[in-house]
Amino acid sequence: MKHNFNPGPAVLPKTVLKKASKAVLDLDDSGLSVLEISHRSNAFKEILENSTKMALEIAGLKGKGYSALFLHGGASTQFLNVAANFLNQKAGYSDTGSWSAKAIKEAKHYGQVVEVASSAYCKYNYIPVSFENTSELDYLHITTNNTIYGTQYSEIPRVDCPLVADMSSDIFSRVLDYNKFDLFYAGAQKNLGPAGVALVVIKESFLDRVKRKLPSMLDYKLHLSKGSSFNTPPVFAIYTTMLTLQWIIEKGGLKKLGKKNSQKASLIYSEVDRNSKFRGFANKENRSQMNVVFNLVDKSEKEIFDQMWQSLGIEGLNGHRSVGGYRASIYNALELESVKLLVECMKEFENR
Ligand SMILES: *Cc1c(COP(=O)(O)O)cnc(C)c1O
Repeated sequence: MKHNFNPGPAVLPKTVLKKASKAVLDLDDSGLSVLEISHRSNAFKEILENSTKMALEIAGLKGKGYSALFLHGGASTQFLNVAANFLNQKAGYSDTGSWSAKAIKEAKHYGQVVEVASSAYCKYNYIPVSFENTSELDYLHITTNNTIYGTQYSEIPRVDCPLVADMSSDIFSRVLDYNKFDLFYAGAQKNLGPAGVALVVIKESFLDRVKRKLPSMLDYKLHLSKGSSFNTPPVFAIYTTMLTLQWIIEKGGLKKLGKKNSQKASLIYSEVDRNSKFRGFANKENRSQMNVVFNLVDKSEKEIFDQMWQSLGIEGLNGHRSVGGYRASIYNALELESVKLLVECMKEFENR
């Protein structure tokens, strides 16, 4: 058995994988594969409707004036879409990692970008929390969880302008006031489903601020008016995301999942702090509950530790090339037993 700590694409619930693979052969006894159905069919319309409904329900935004979209192009396309739609003059970005930096780069195609805060000078090991003068911004963009550095906003900051968030690596992982956001988006491949689709949730009143004439594929209003089917959407990715959303609800929603995620995170962080062989990367107050980044105190022992965890069936523990060391990505679908196994392995490594 494998224990999948991959950062993304990442672990999905086993039940989701079973249902998805069955649907590849035969979708709900229709005699057709989910890969073969028309995106205009009633079967797919129902899949889209269910996915939209469940995404809003999980976020606690049902009936609160929000809409959900499922779009191609991953989170990276949203870096550009957000700015194309909403950056009329000046937008603020909090620079908390290389994904934020990439979002900033794309936004600059459309207008002025103010970096309201940055932790780049500290190798992004913490989250700046206070921003000045946000009232004149078209919006402020944050990255709620920094996948590479293992930092996360523990609370959503208060701002005096619309708030936009890239939530690719911590979407639906904890209880949060999702109504603080005017728009949030996430590439599916960390906590929602397979690569190839991004979920975008938009407050409808925010759309009144769109002024620019846009090419069709960048136009949120157009995509909304066509119910995420302006062109052929990624049918299979959306179907599998629907199954994951269903799984989240069946598991008791964000309250239950958040508890499980906190439990997993504190197990590993306590071991990182206790174990004389390891050192954590992120500032303690800003530690991520999704990506635990740590390193060896003595890097010459890397080969030994690598061999130990690999022999246990642990996968995907290597840190991002820009940080090095290790990164345990412990997304929603990773089970507590996998985390316990890793912690045991760290203990054994110390005691050997
Ligand atoms: C993975 C990731 C992205 C990139 O997503 P793509 O779907 O590959 O474009 C963007 N932001 C964050 C925070 C991520 O973790």
